[in-house]
Amino acid sequence: MGVMIDLLGDRGMVDLGIRKEATIEETVWRFRRRRRHRFEILNEVESNLDSVREKICSDSDDVSLWRGKTGYKSCFSTKETWLYLRRNSVQLKWTRGVWFSMATPRFAFIVWLAMQNRLSTMYRVVRWSQRADVKCVLCKNDVESGDHLFFKCAYSAQLWCSLVSGILGRSYSES
Ligand SMILES: [Zn+2]
Repeated sequence: MGVMIDLLGDRGMVDLGIRKEATIEETVWRFRRRRRHRFEILNEVESNLDSVREKICSDSDDVSLWRGKTGYKSCFSTKETWLYLRRNSVQLKWTRGVWFSMATPRFAFIVWLAMQNRLSTMYRVVRWSQRADVKCVLCKNDVESGDHLFFKCAYSAQLWCSLVSGILGRSYSES
């Protein structure tokens, strides 16, 4: 069912009469109190403890189980474990443009930072170093932000144009 303290909280542990520091062995063997609880989760835990005790008494060998999204399984799955550990969120539209099979990890990481607006531009640096000069190092005309560096800076726009306008042709854009 998961980690008992997470499941029941302090109050639930007290209600069941289980010490916070108790081992599973202690909990299974010493826990004998049976009563109906107001909260169904407490009844479920009691019933599970009973079934664990019964299994131990039935003399069967211990088996290792791996917890995944779909419950406990006897075989280990890297994918299921990874999916279980990570926090899921909605896939962003630009992820395929950053993370693809032939991407150079270093460049993919920098683009990923840029997409999250987490590059160490002067706009961000000034937050932790107030004396920092926030002007764009290339044109000295505006605050150096990710948006400025990549899309609004006249100097970087010149570089971008001379590098890729020939390659991109009609689909060339500075935005
Ligand atoms: Zn600039």
